[in-house]
Amino acid sequence: MRHFPIFCDLRARRVIVCGATETAVAKLRLILKTEARVTVFGDDPHEQIVRWAGEDQLTLIQRPLERGDALCAALVYGATEDPVEDARIAELGRACGALVNIVDNLEDSDFITPAIVDRDPVTVAIGTEGAAPVLARRIKAMNEENLSGDLGTLARIGQSFRHRAETLPMGRVRRAFWSRYYDDVGPRVLAEHGEVALVGALETLLDDAVNKSSEPGRVALIGAGPGDPELLTLKARRMLHEADVVIHDRLVAPSVLELARREAIVIEVGKTPNGESWKQDDINALMVEHASGGAHIARLKSGDPGMFGRLDEEMDALDAAGIAFEIIPGITSAMAAAASIKVSLTRRGRNKSVQFITGHDVKGFAEHDWRSLTIPGATAAFYMGVRAARFVQGRMLMHGADPDTPVTAVENASRPDQKIVSTTLEALPDTLKSAGITGPAILFIGLSPREAMDAAETLSAQTNLQEAL
Ligand code: SAH
Repeated sequence: MRHFPIFCDLRARRVIVCGATETAVAKLRLILKTEARVTVFGDDPHEQIVRWAGEDQLTLIQRPLERGDALCAALVYGATEDPVEDARIAELGRACGALVNIVDNLEDSDFITPAIVDRDPVTVAIGTEGAAPVLARRIKAMNEENLSGDLGTLARIGQSFRHRAETLPMGRVRRAFWSRYYDDVGPRVLAEHGEVALVGALETLLDDAVNKSSEPGRVALIGAGPGDPELLTLKARRMLHEADVVIHDRLVAPSVLELARREAIVIEVGKTPNGESWKQDDINALMVEHASGGAHIARLKSGDPGMFGRLDEEMDALDAAGIAFEIIPGITSAMAAAASIKVSLTRRGRNKSVQFITGHDVKGFAEHDWRSLTIPGATAAFYMGVRAARFVQGRMLMHGADPDTPVTAVENASRPDQKIVSTTLEALPDTLKSAGITGPAILFIGLSPREAMDAAETLSAQTNLQEAL
């Protein structure tokens, strides 16, 4: 983004338009919507400009801009339709400290004027950095169609009521109040009873909201998926967007957090393996504290909240504090990793079950029913398995696993920096090390990426055929 959109206060500021041309008329139609003091310089003025001058909407000076004319101007427009003259104007304008726009000349301008949808005080500004004016016009037409002509009136009355609404607690309650006004009550009252009835309607809404604001908060324990925001459920997305407070694990992707409201409080409660960590009790206390204050909390956990996510401890703490909660399931990282390597986790004739296993538990590297993992075709997804790789390898070989058992690591599944490494049980720890896999990763025991599997199957089919012959 080369041009940053801002809204500039032009009340009582000077705006100068040079050239009393047809081009200037088009710009003036926009500029005259503001409260700026507008001066037009130029000989042989267009009749519309003369008319505006006659109505005192602008000052018309029938000569070219001279040095010092742009003193204290906020903006200077060059609209003379003469490139040499416009360049002279740009220099004079900048010498006086004004921002300069040469109409239809992006390169020599300090700013550009967007296409505007005007529902004052609501203004939609549309810019394409000069790349596609046709597109800007289309977006403007869409907005003109979609934004009711009453929006300006609703917003103006709403604006005059803001200080009254500030008696409501910030966050969800206040937002709900304004949503009811803009989405439902406001447009209805305006259509049925006209503008005068709006303030009365706002007072009634405010009373309602004050009574409701004592309602308790609640928590949504949300599966934030493996990282790609498109892998969030619609419900997770909505809950995240509505939350007053977002409490998230370290592994929740920044692109997912961007879906939170701008005014939401966002708190990371990361647990780094072997590093600085939040204690589970403190996380529980944090949720209880915010929810007790009436907040709606989105507690985001990577993947699915019920998969190695200490969900029960959080549910117990919320129950103990009498705080309502719900669980929004998510796509666990093993599912996303399997999709990335294009394999199914179960397959007729290969495996009737699949194990989701943690490489770690409270005591360190976790023990399992290793023998079940050594059966040909056995399939397992190891979470938190990278640092436990040598341990897993040792245990499996000790229990009779084939050293050639395929193992695939998928690091950062579904994220832009996803990495896939396919190896064997025998080579596992060394391959992870040389490939620089540090996690978060899923280790699949018994699975290779689809391409590799296809190749192996073709080979084994050929061998079988040869043996049969
Ligand atoms: N609840 C999560 C798991 C949390 S435990 C889930 O359902 O996925 C943390 C472990 O999850 C990590 O050590 C890693 O093994 C795995 N993990 C989380 N995000 C991952 C990702 N994007 N790619 C691969 N593994 C991931």
